[in-house]
Amino acid sequence: MADFSMPTTGSHYADYAIALVALWLVFGALRGWRERRAGRRFEQAADNGSTEPTTLHPVISAEKCVGCGACTHACPEGDIIGMIGGKAQLLEPASCIGHGACKTACPAGAIELVFGSARRGVDIPLLSPSFESNVPGLFIAGELGGMGLVANAIEQGRQAMEAIAKRVAAKAPSEPGRYDVIIVGGGPAGISASLTAKQRGLNHLTLEQDTLGGTVAHYPRAKVVMTRPAMLPLYGKVRLRRVRKERLLSLWQDVIAKTGIKIHQGVRVERITPASGGFDVATSAGSVHAKSVLLATGRRGSPRRLGVPGEQLSKVTYRLEHAAHYRGRHVLVVGGGESALETVIALARQPFKSLTLCYRGDVLSRARPAIRQSFDAAAKSAPVRVVLQAHVRSIEPTRVLIERDGETHALPNDAVIICAGGVLPTSLLDNIGVSVERKFGIA
Ligand SMILES: Cc1cc2nc3c(=O)[nH]c(=O)nc-3n(C[C@H](O)[C@H](O)[C@H](O)COP(=O)(O)OP(=O)(O)OC[C@H]3O[C@@H](n4cnc5c(N)ncnc54)[C@H](O)[C@@H]3O)c2cc1C
Ligand code: SF4
Repeated sequence: MADFSMPTTGSHYADYAIALVALWLVFGALRGWRERRAGRRFEQAADNGSTEPTTLHPVISAEKCVGCGACTHACPEGDIIGMIGGKAQLLEPASCIGHGACKTACPAGAIELVFGSARRGVDIPLLSPSFESNVPGLFIAGELGGMGLVANAIEQGRQAMEAIAKRVAAKAPSEPGRYDVIIVGGGPAGISASLTAKQRGLNHLTLEQDTLGGTVAHYPRAKVVMTRPAMLPLYGKVRLRRVRKERLLSLWQDVIAKTGIKIHQGVRVERITPASGGFDVATSAGSVHAKSVLLATGRRGSPRRLGVPGEQLSKVTYRLEHAAHYRGRHVLVVGGGESALETVIALARQPFKSLTLCYRGDVLSRARPAIRQSFDAAAKSAPVRVVLQAHVRSIEPTRVLIERDGETHALPNDAVIICAGGVLPTSLLDNIGVSVERKFGIA
């Protein structure tokens, strides 16, 4: 009788071969599935118009890429890079925030980090090693200067303010409205610069158009922030690596409570003009003078204003924070783009007294079809009033005046949300004559 307990050498090889083929098939199927998913994400980004990177991002050489996929695993933001046709590709350029981990991970030297793209140039200010622009006394730190990421912004804010402190003679008795330095922006760079200014005894003023924390405050809820330890003057070393955005924002609150620095929120800097001994700075709360200015405004820009009487009232905002806050109120949304339509869609789910969309154009054609459909559905399910070819003329505490066809109509109103697009982050630079280099994505 044959002994079946010991396989022959031949059947041994066959087992290995079957296992290898099975592995190869599984690997191939997985690779195919990943490539299809990457392809879908790439197409979606093209449909959404998310094809233009806003900050430092990778360009990948198809010749040099050996298709190992190391970059796709290295990116802390997830599926930003994927494999298509066996080569790495940036799938959703607008979501790249410039960690640069892909470049470090690539064994083939196939990745370069660049600013801008062939279609959209990005203006990067020309700065000295101490972060001073070509306009003497005007300094720039953080993402506006081209270097993104929280830890970089903290470090640059500190270094730029150290350079300002050496330049500006502190300790002069302060006069109302006159400062040694004005810091524009309350993000990581602006906070770190404010701490350094206080440490160096500078008479400083920090202005933030929105709320404390900068871009981080606008990340999606519970977003994980990848960062690295950083030194905060007057506060000490912060040992952050992977933190939720809420934790980072509470850190800034703690920094303010413990160091006593002041960030004036809700004040926007509108223009900076060279003047004798420094700069005149026009803000939404009046004019001030400073010997030096540090711009730490990031690259998100500022919401476009309507420029009508009453726009400074506290009921006017430029972004929907919590739809539930608008329950039972008369609300006016201004604008005809996607953010205006999305705002109406969110508000229409709340019980409201009246909800009006006012747009100066004659059709709502600037939004993607999917958003148009959701908007139409929302407008059917709730009594949303859409007023086209109309202009807001004035905002008053309990009503708004809207002009249409030469007639002025008064609508009862408790809240106005203006979604009229944004002003480029570089507009302050243009006004004051800061030299920039326009980068077109070439390494
Ligand atoms: C979705 C997303 C995810 C990110 N994830 C990470 C991450 O995981 N890790 C990481 O390190 N980085 C991340 N980043 C990048 C990081 O947020 C920025 O690089 C960093 O916040 C830059 O800091 P900043 O101080 O230069 O500018 P910002 O944080 O942009 O702050 C600038 C501030 O200036 C204010 N401002 C602008 N104009 C004016 C004006 N005219 N007057 C008054 N105030 C003004 C703005 O309101 C803003 O609050 C991410 C970015 C995004 C968009
Ligand atoms: S790490 Fe370099 S070689 Fe590997 S897939 Fe990414 S770009 Fe290509």
